[in-house]
Amino acid sequence: MQVTGHIPELRDIIRGYKKEGKRVSFVPTMGALHDGHLSLIRLAKKHSEVVVVSIYVNPKQFAPNEDFASYPTSLEQDLSFCEQEGVSLIFTPDTDVMYNQELFFSIDIHTLNEYLDGASRQGYFQGIALVVNKLFNIVEPDVAIFGQKDYQQYKVIETLVEEFNHGIELLMAPIERASDGLALSSRNAYLTPAQREVAPLLYKSLMSAKKQIEQGMKDWPTMFMNLQQALSEAGFRNDYFGIFDTDKLHPVQQIVDGQSYLIAVAAYLGKARLIDNVIFTNKTLIKGES
Ligand code: AMP
Repeated sequence: MQVTGHIPELRDIIRGYKKEGKRVSFVPTMGALHDGHLSLIRLAKKHSEVVVVSIYVNPKQFAPNEDFASYPTSLEQDLSFCEQEGVSLIFTPDTDVMYNQELFFSIDIHTLNEYLDGASRQGYFQGIALVVNKLFNIVEPDVAIFGQKDYQQYKVIETLVEEFNHGIELLMAPIERASDGLALSSRNAYLTPAQREVAPLLYKSLMSAKKQIEQGMKDWPTMFMNLQQALSEAGFRNDYFGIFDTDKLHPVQQIVDGQSYLIAVAAYLGKARLIDNVIFTNKTLIKGES
């Protein structure tokens, strides 16, 4: 496994792989790797001979009030996980490599970010679009892998790939969870033991919303209000909880058979901002189906 923080060296190495006719897949991360990240790497391995992982905490996607300065890091452990998973190349740039000059351009996002994290986190997806656009130009992978945990991010990047003609195949990996249902996240490291005990309630609330909707619950505002009330009584500070179409990510007022929907939740627990989601296809009313 090779590790570099330098763009020309990275490009040289990748050019070498491509000359040998090898497919290159790419897993961008912010480090503090856990089994969720490793599942992306495993999926990447199924689709290519070479897996490139980037480890870079991108300052542009953090608002001033967010946790950039305290974001967890564990580079030594990350490298050893990657080595065990058979990663070929790790890109660990410093910020003066990624943003080595005053920026003259930005990427504006006109759609897909009006709700969910786009509404809650100022400049978040602009920062992600910027860094991913740069990383795609640097790595030039054949395939890139992102997690469903950040479904809105996936949709933004899907659109970025189309609109900027990156010609990269995108894959979405399912959400990896702890045995009690909590979605794995680098930010779970912020949870105290007592908060960690409470945290799986987020996933339970999500499952409860899905079940109620599938059973025909129509009064979603009251349902989401009640679920948020229970979260708040357990110590969460609510951000959003709702149901959205999986394409444009707009809130939906009613569901149609055969369509897919995203139920998504975000809430703070202590210092940690936790997000989770579930995608389901409404089949309850399809005639002839049991
Ligand atoms: P991050 O390091 O948080 O920027 O995440 C890097 C990639 O890992 C993103 O594509 C995330 O969606 C994905 N990811 C994070 N947590 C999980 C998880 N629990 N299961 C699957 N993918 C995840």
